Amino acid sequence: MQSFPASTRKAKNTLPRAFAAPQPQIPARQPIALISVHGDPAAAVGHESAGGQNIYVRQLGEALAAAGWHVDMFTRKVNPEDADVVEHGSHCRTIRLEAGPVTYIPREHLFDTLPDFVEAFKRYHTKVGYPLVHTNYWLSGWVGCQLRQELHFQWLHTYHSLGVVKYQVASEQANRDDTRLRVEADILEQADCVIATSPQEEAYLRSLVSRLGHIRLIPCGTDLSLFYPQPDARRRLQIPHQEPLILYVGRFDRRKGLETLVAALAQVPRGQLLIVGGSDPQRSDGAERCRIEGLVQAYGLGDRVTFVGQVAHEDLGAYYSAADVCVVPSYYEPFGLVAIEAMACGTPVIASAVGGLQFTVVPEETGLLVPPEDATALAAAIQRLIDAPQWAQMLGANGRERVAAQFDWQAIALQMGALYRQLFAASLMGMSGCLTALANTDMLASMDALLNNS
Ligand code: UDP
Repeated sequence: MQSFPASTRKAKNTLPRAFAAPQPQIPARQPIALISVHGDPAAAVGHESAGGQNIYVRQLGEALAAAGWHVDMFTRKVNPEDADVVEHGSHCRTIRLEAGPVTYIPREHLFDTLPDFVEAFKRYHTKVGYPLVHTNYWLSGWVGCQLRQELHFQWLHTYHSLGVVKYQVASEQANRDDTRLRVEADILEQADCVIATSPQEEAYLRSLVSRLGHIRLIPCGTDLSLFYPQPDARRRLQIPHQEPLILYVGRFDRRKGLETLVAALAQVPRGQLLIVGGSDPQRSDGAERCRIEGLVQAYGLGDRVTFVGQVAHEDLGAYYSAADVCVVPSYYEPFGLVAIEAMACGTPVIASAVGGLQFTVVPEETGLLVPPEDATALAAAIQRLIDAPQWAQMLGANGRERVAAQFDWQAIALQMGALYRQLFAASLMGMSGCLTALANTDMLASMDALLNNS
């Protein structure tokens, strides 16, 4: 916060009251709650327990606070040494609630801790009274369903991942969880609005989850001041110029498709692969990293693959900028922040033609799309880009333009803020649940104006 020099402050204080200019009416900040049970917005990202959801919630919270809201982001406390409250500048904080044992629990086993989370949240709600709650992922959505039975608030939800789509991937079928499927449908039918982050997700929600409920398309975004082309990145990272550089960024998880990328590299005669992402030998991402290291050795690629480990989000721009191509070989990807981060850095992207990647990556314009789990098609796509560096550069430049036009986080946060205001307006006018109908009329705009002037 800006502070006045002492002399200025004194001069201000000595003005006779009668002559003091009337102070502008500063409206009280509207408190809102973001709930992200398993994705701690204050945690370092890039390993099993922290990925795109953490980034999304934190960016959203900070941007909304900057736009005038008071934002509390609730998550589950997993480490006794972690602070209960983390301030992210003024009016935005992460609040860690105790729910179940204070230790890391994989999300597949978190369901039993949720009733405690609901009770802990209610204690905060009693003090603050949040008129709007935005839940993230189905576990937090279940919390939203429970809170809704007792409390009145406007409720938004972002899925981040849809069970019904994920279970279509062969390797995920054994993990099918019917509770999750039922809760995902309940959320769509009961929330005031759910956010689809891509047209593909919107279509899945309608065709596979429920025909009821209100959906708004607001994509994920990225921070253009963090991700931009850095021409000297290779020199700073001390990467020699001769070899084409292929980059993977993300968690070690089977559905991320690293296995396919390693198999593809074996079919491409030149090129170094950098794998960026953290893992813990005690957890499932550690086991997956071990498996991938074994594959690298089995293909005889030991001298062409480097495991960089986890890189701080703020430092990733240099890796994207240094790369000739960023590969996102996922078998299932609801949105895929990595693709737009690479594009923002002017790097062409080769991605699997799944989920939101089909929305962000425009084939032959900002990169290439290939069928998932197809190492030969992926190898051919990588080879095309390596063989035509000028064309690859043009794809990269187009990617940067596309992200600036469609996925700039500042613009996305404004869209979300406008939706929040519309929900408030609808509830003030007793029209909660009428968002879809309203979206087609001029009424939303006039209600928005009404709320802005109130
Ligand atoms: N990430 C990071 N450091 C790493 C690896 C990944 O900051 O070492 C970040 C990456 O920048 C991206 C996020 O983790 O913002 C991954 O999000 P994405 O949507 O691509 O995948 P998810 O983890 O949600 O499946």
